[in-house]
Amino acid sequence: MSEEYTYDEWKDRGYFVIKDSYSTKKNEKDEPVFTLDQVEWKVYQISEEICAKNISGVCPGCGGVVEPIETVNNSDEPTFWSGCNHCLIFCCGVDKSVWQTARKLVEEGRGFTSCKSRHDYEDTPERLEYWKDTETSHLSGQIRQILFEYNKIVEAGK
Ligand SMILES: [Zn+2]
Repeated sequence: MSEEYTYDEWKDRGYFVIKDSYSTKKNEKDEPVFTLDQVEWKVYQISEEICAKNISGVCPGCGGVVEPIETVNNSDEPTFWSGCNHCLIFCCGVDKSVWQTARKLVEEGRGFTSCKSRHDYEDTPERLEYWKDTETSHLSGQIRQILFEYNKIVEAGK
């Protein structure tokens, strides 16, 4: 008699269900249960700790927290990637001052970023917020690149 647990019970034990995610077996509470040959020990390609170490700064879009997010990579292997749960983007973060600069330029209409016009997103506050976050994210990346090149040139001139 092999062990049978529900999806969550396996998860608590550090396993995840890989095969036959639809189980025909049920426990006494009528929840689907899985046996050991339907689960696999969960090995993360990038652990939560390593992922967290690579985060620096704030979300380039909304300026919020960048944190490790549990996901799967292109080969369907479990991993942690850093990102923003608000903007639903994967990123490592940018300096807060870079984000502040980008946001200021976007809000003042001085950031030339994408071809998405603010005008097309002003119908609801949510859509305007989305537009601002997307534009700010785009501009944050550009400012970071500009600063990187700028600092190299300044350093070389010393
Ligand atoms: Zn964000």
